[in-house]
Amino acid sequence: MVNPFDTFAIEEAVRIKEKLGGEVVALSMGIPDTERLLRDACSRGADRGVLLSDRAFAGADTLATSYALSLWCRQYEPSLILCGKMAVDGDTAQIGPELAEHLGIPHITDVCEVIDVTREKITVRKDTGEGFEVLECPLPALITVLKDINLPRMASIPGVRYGHEADVQIFTASGLSADLTKVGLSGSPTQVVRTFTPQRSSEALPIEGDLSEIAGRLTDIIKEVL
Ligand SMILES: Cc1cc2nc3c(=O)[nH]c(=O)nc-3n(C[C@H](O)[C@H](O)[C@H](O)COP(=O)(O)OP(=O)(O)OC[C@H]3O[C@@H](n4cnc5c(N)ncnc54)[C@H](O)[C@@H]3O)c2cc1C
Repeated sequence: MVNPFDTFAIEEAVRIKEKLGGEVVALSMGIPDTERLLRDACSRGADRGVLLSDRAFAGADTLATSYALSLWCRQYEPSLILCGKMAVDGDTAQIGPELAEHLGIPHITDVCEVIDVTREKITVRKDTGEGFEVLECPLPALITVLKDINLPRMASIPGVRYGHEADVQIFTASGLSADLTKVGLSGSPTQVVRTFTPQRSSEALPIEGDLSEIAGRLTDIIKEVL
């Protein structure tokens, strides 16, 4: 399935195209079947799809994934890259900022509104979790978007037909002149040693006394934990 946050990124990109013109390219790194999802993006307004797919890319962590994505972006030089806030599997929210760093362009995360965009700059509202910031950034740039940013459109029947026939280009590692030490497992410094569900304790420990006694007891507890 298309990562839910990415449906909002696609919609926002299509809205920007409708305002300023240009082309929306849906880009993904994944298995060959991902082509189906890129066609879905085309049925919702993207002009074409690009799939990075190669056994050499398998086993990629976020660093190797963002490196591979950056190779295509370097060739195509998009004015604006829109990512979802995070993927609903890895959940790291690292790909967007890492991709921007690979490309040496500015990025803004957690965008909940595109206030204005021209060919030179973008003005957005960022949700900080505690409030909002209005930020302006020169293009080229990358933003990651939240689900509040828009209401994605449904694919129309002509849209679905377009998606079936849309151009989806497939690139391999050699087609992108990738440094093979930076892609796939060999380019992934993350080591997953084990996965587990963290234990949460709702145990409450009442601490009584005057302020200095409470502070002293808290210090002891912190020392015990550390
Ligand atoms: C050691 C290790 C090995 C792994 N091996 C594999 C593997 O063999 N196969 C596999 O499928 N996954 C593998 N993964 C998971 C994979 O690295 C992550 O799914 C991927 O890097 C995205 O990270 P994330 O899910 O945290 O995305 P986030 O950073 O949370 O995603 C944020 C946004 O970035 C964009 N984005 C994320 N991923 C992609 C992508 N692939 N293409 C285009 N845009 C993207 C989207 O817009 C998304 O909304 C592995 C992870 C680790 C740590």
